[in-house]
Amino acid sequence: MGVETLRNYIGGEWVASATENFLEVRNPALDEVIARVPLSTPEEVDRAVVAAQTAFETWRRLPLQTRARYLLRLRDRVERHFDDLARTIVQEHGKTLEEARGEMQRTLENIEAAAGMFASLMGYHTPQIADGIDEECILEPVGVFCCIAPFNFPAMIPSWFFPYALVAGNTYIVKPSEVCPITQTRLFELIHEVGFPPGVINMVHGGKEVVDALLAHPGIAGVSFVGSTPVAKYVYATATAHGKRAQCHGGAKNALVVMPDADLERAVPAILSSAFGSAGQRCLAGSLVIAVGEIHRPLTEALVEGASRIRVGYGLEEGVQMGPVVSRKALERIHRYIETGLREEADLVLDGRGIRVPGYPNGYFIGPTIFDGVRPPMTIACEEIFGPVLGIIPARDLEEALAIINGSSYGNAASLFTRDGKAAREFKLRVRAGNVGINIGVAAPIAPYPFAGQKQSFFGDLHGQGMDTLYFFTDRKVVITRWF
Ligand code: NAD
Repeated sequence: MGVETLRNYIGGEWVASATENFLEVRNPALDEVIARVPLSTPEEVDRAVVAAQTAFETWRRLPLQTRARYLLRLRDRVERHFDDLARTIVQEHGKTLEEARGEMQRTLENIEAAAGMFASLMGYHTPQIADGIDEECILEPVGVFCCIAPFNFPAMIPSWFFPYALVAGNTYIVKPSEVCPITQTRLFELIHEVGFPPGVINMVHGGKEVVDALLAHPGIAGVSFVGSTPVAKYVYATATAHGKRAQCHGGAKNALVVMPDADLERAVPAILSSAFGSAGQRCLAGSLVIAVGEIHRPLTEALVEGASRIRVGYGLEEGVQMGPVVSRKALERIHRYIETGLREEADLVLDGRGIRVPGYPNGYFIGPTIFDGVRPPMTIACEEIFGPVLGIIPARDLEEALAIINGSSYGNAASLFTRDGKAAREFKLRVRAGNVGINIGVAAPIAPYPFAGQKQSFFGDLHGQGMDTLYFFTDRKVVITRWF
């Protein structure tokens, strides 16, 4: 069977890109090419924007419930193809089938939340603000929005944005990650089946050139970005310099604090799945453990023991708990960080390098890796590794743990494991991170809540998901009325 060449979806039609530049998409467990993705041209971006602008004029005037119903139809189709989509995620990304199902569940929830949530929220009305005078606020759609997506949740992340934008009456362009572009393509096949009016939702594959064309295009009203911090910063600066609204989610370095009174039997599995789930390639992954006081030794022993039992393999196989990382490039970057950790004299207590997975000799595998004796200024404590590498930092008390976290340039997530309500309250109120877990390893907000990074993990003010999207995707118009 030939390798599929992915196409763009513009104005309700599948169109082959005119570019001569393509990238190979590989299955990371097999190191086999499974698709070719076009690096589309600025002219193709322009065509998508024009299609979306044209569609906006009629889409915005449809009754809100009608728009929501398109999303509900999409929801039903996604549910019907739930497992096929999950398998596609495994094939292009490498995570396990169970993890991919979790991602699909979140994708569904976002489509549902958008369809349900906005129905009653597109305005409010105050009668009689003065004699015979009424006032109302109408939330109006703005125009064409786009999202620029990362590789690590190829189905879910665009769903933080486009369902909400569409229900609010905007039209949309998705730019999937060029590393994992297949799942989004499969989702667009379902979008095509639903039969949205042509141009309401479009997809343009590509890399930096497509991003730059979107950021500079006068027809784009706003940009939702998710990816690494340097690119998030660049996209935010460029989009806003072009007068667009922007919400840019960046990278992370999340710490899990374990207090001396923590319930280790429950904390250890939660920490292991936070650090090594999805091979550490989650923006909410715990990549540092801050071990407070005498818990340090028993905790380290339990983590090493538990991590060394994690079964690494091809995500489509039964019983596999951790898949490969996404690409050879990512694998090499992770190896370089481990060498840096050794140079910085952190104590490598579990080394996942050189792992062999029977049957998959070419996969980009690395086993769970743990450094003990990490100190806050070390590179491996400051920089995002985005792989299955966990650093353990010993600390005296909660004060010191908070100082370490709050001194980090990132602020995506932080968790505390304790049985002490007072410590938990102190942590919740003082920690500078947007997604906070108390005895939770991955504090991932459900669809009605904002995905709330802070500091260098987020540029903008209104986040993806939840009520924030209502304001990101609308303009407010206040009307004061008197009838004589
Ligand atoms: P990335 O920054 O390399 O790419 C993200 C997107 O930006 C892609 O669509 C890519 O085509 C585009 N891009 C890359 N370089 C660009 C450039 N120089 N100019 C313009 N566009 C460019 O990120 P990734 O490797 O795909 O994803 C992993 C990163 O995403 C990690 O840092 C992770 O923490 C972050 N992430 C953050 C969140 C969050 O909610 N904060 C969620 C998921 C992932």
